[in-house]
Amino acid sequence: MRDEQSIETEATELLRTLIRNACVNDGTVASGQETRSCSALEDYFAGAGVTCERYTSEPGRESLIARIEGSDPNAPRLLLMGHTDVVPVSPDGWKRDPFGGELVDGVVWGRGAIDMLNLTSTMAVATRRLAKDGFRPRGTLIYLAVADEEAGGNLGAGHLVERRPDAVKADYVITESGGVPIPTSKGHVLGVTVGEKGANWRRLTVAGTPGHGSRPFRTDNALVTAAEVVRRIAAYQPKARILDVWREYVKAMDLGPELTAGLTDPARVLDTVRGMDNLTLAREAHACTHTTFSPNVMHGGVKTNVIPDRVEIDVDIRALPGITTEEVDVMLAEAIGDLAPRVTIRTGRGQQGSLSTHDTPLVAAMERVTSRLMPGSRVVPKMTTGGTDAKFFRWQGVPAYGFGLQSLRIPYTDYPQMFHGHNERVDTDAAGGPCRRGARRDGRLRHPLAGFAALRAAHRTRGAHSARPPQRAPRRHPPVTPSANRTSLHRTREVPLCWFHTSKPSVMTRPLTFLQVTFAVQGFSGS
Ligand SMILES: [Zn+2]
Repeated sequence: MRDEQSIETEATELLRTLIRNACVNDGTVASGQETRSCSALEDYFAGAGVTCERYTSEPGRESLIARIEGSDPNAPRLLLMGHTDVVPVSPDGWKRDPFGGELVDGVVWGRGAIDMLNLTSTMAVATRRLAKDGFRPRGTLIYLAVADEEAGGNLGAGHLVERRPDAVKADYVITESGGVPIPTSKGHVLGVTVGEKGANWRRLTVAGTPGHGSRPFRTDNALVTAAEVVRRIAAYQPKARILDVWREYVKAMDLGPELTAGLTDPARVLDTVRGMDNLTLAREAHACTHTTFSPNVMHGGVKTNVIPDRVEIDVDIRALPGITTEEVDVMLAEAIGDLAPRVTIRTGRGQQGSLSTHDTPLVAAMERVTSRLMPGSRVVPKMTTGGTDAKFFRWQGVPAYGFGLQSLRIPYTDYPQMFHGHNERVDTDAAGGPCRRGARRDGRLRHPLAGFAALRAAHRTRGAHSARPPQRAPRRHPPVTPSANRTSLHRTREVPLCWFHTSKPSVMTRPLTFLQVTFAVQGFSGS
């Protein structure tokens, strides 16, 4: 019965459940309580023929693994990883209940709608549908829903990689961050995240001498010194580094020869970003070419009439891959300069950046799939400036990628604002967009993948309830024999795509991501 429900409904309802579970991670060990969403996911997988295991790092901080065992122990294992925790909200800034999981005019609202409960949900639906369909991959498929990503992941992915390495042993990982379609003159660019910067947090304690606030002349006020320390750190610009991944990304963005040259020359990149009108791109370009220093918290002073003797400053430093924590400390000292004797530095989180090669069969499979789902688009490796759980796997030498097709309807410039911002939501309307265009052009698309019987069934079910006019939905496709070519990953054959030109309006990221995940899994680790 469940398999007869549309993919959209299934993934939407799971997404709404995960939003309503409100696994808010405020950085304290007692927050998050992802056990709620682990239970929901375990219920969801029940009866699908996958084995579920739950792992607890701290009370209530649970992660869940569901796996479909592969037929060949030597074949590569693929791990799909989504986090179940979300960051806190400022409810006053929201137009809807941030934890209501409301579905309004085809839009799902709520904290986590794009970061990343949409993918956590879609990956679960893909895994369950594959299992129900009898899909037996060559290499084991692992679905992993983790706790604690939003506080660095040590109680989730980090805990598992360190303490339960056998449970999460994989050869490739797909997780969040990537797949937002960025328009260029040569079609849409879809970034696949292959690396990220290393988070290095430092607490600076600035010392002064206490005194009476009524006589400030020539006193040693820690707050005044701290203000200068903050100013210097904010103004500090370490030398730019141009990584290959950045160079390739800029080239793919088709920005014109002058801007491309400016953004890929270490001697010119800072001046170039200073002169750019597009602030989103300027910030991205700066952060992808520099180790960055952001003083974000300051505590000091005890009373208005007391000159303070102690101020604390927290600095968020993001190091480019290849920069060591020692190099970070050298840069920080350089920034503070001759005020160094007044400042004590304590090291908090200290992480190296991470980078995976994109020259792998999994990226090739994602490229094949994506070019069918979004004709004219190109998959391009990129780096993310934030942190994800992918780092735990990359540090072990396991290629890990952030990817999941996102909506064309939401302007790409809106995504950065929705991550951790107000009114996080995912649209439900544009599912037919890119697929319809593809279908109108050729009606049929070549597809390298096998094992899609359940999807075809779902397609027929949806088609029966289609709200779209038939002329938009050419359905006369040649019959497909699912038994053909099942032995090869890379052989191609004709299949009747695109499914969604007959579907009702639906959450675009879910069906698209669902298809992308499903096909990538099948294409990569197919039976
Ligand atoms: Zn996330």
